[in-house]
Amino acid sequence: MTRVLVVEDDAQLARALVINLQARQYTVDAAPDGGTALRLVAAEQPDMILLDLGLPDMDGIDVIKALRGWSRAPVLVLSARSGSEDKIRALDAGADDYMTKPFSMDELLARLRAATRRTRESPPPTHTAMVVSTDVFTIDLLAKKVRRADRDVRLTPTEWHLLEILVNHPGVLVSQRRLLTEVWGPSYSGKTNYLRVYMAQLRRKLEADPAHPRHLITEPGMGYRFEA
Ligand code: CA
Repeated sequence: MTRVLVVEDDAQLARALVINLQARQYTVDAAPDGGTALRLVAAEQPDMILLDLGLPDMDGIDVIKALRGWSRAPVLVLSARSGSEDKIRALDAGADDYMTKPFSMDELLARLRAATRRTRESPPPTHTAMVVSTDVFTIDLLAKKVRRADRDVRLTPTEWHLLEILVNHPGVLVSQRRLLTEVWGPSYSGKTNYLRVYMAQLRRKLEADPAHPRHLITEPGMGYRFEA
């Protein structure tokens, strides 16, 4: 089953896309803006993203930039902008294909199939080094090490697991529920006090000013976000 995320603020077009894709046995999620799109990519891990560039809350190009680095899902841009400069910007940012509106549904479906084939054929990423640096600390995701001011920072396995999830989704809100489920298990999905305690510990170890964190950010009532 191929899961497609449709990012489109034009409700009529979004509905037409969802109906056509579902009729071809795709599993479809829809997002009317960039923020929702990024949350859904993290939560649902779609195999393919159809992305409008003119979104109400952010430019589609910035959605691509935010995605790349942690999502390999092919991005097919659907845009009314027909200038080659817009296409180049989208492709440079990490889009895989570009279609100018209006487009035919048959062509869209053909390009979707082609992109899905390409993904299946390409090998999984082989990271030889995955180091994320901030102005205060450096995280080596492969070696599972954190360094700060030329010293190793000791993290507990739970602290490391939390940090790893956040760092793997830079700039993206990761929900409390998802963090609790991944680190502690599904029966802990409501224990937000666990997160408060462990995030406070991580901040004490990593932030220059733990009371005013700049890298491990709280989105009150929703979740947490890592900013490099
Ligand atoms: Ca639009």
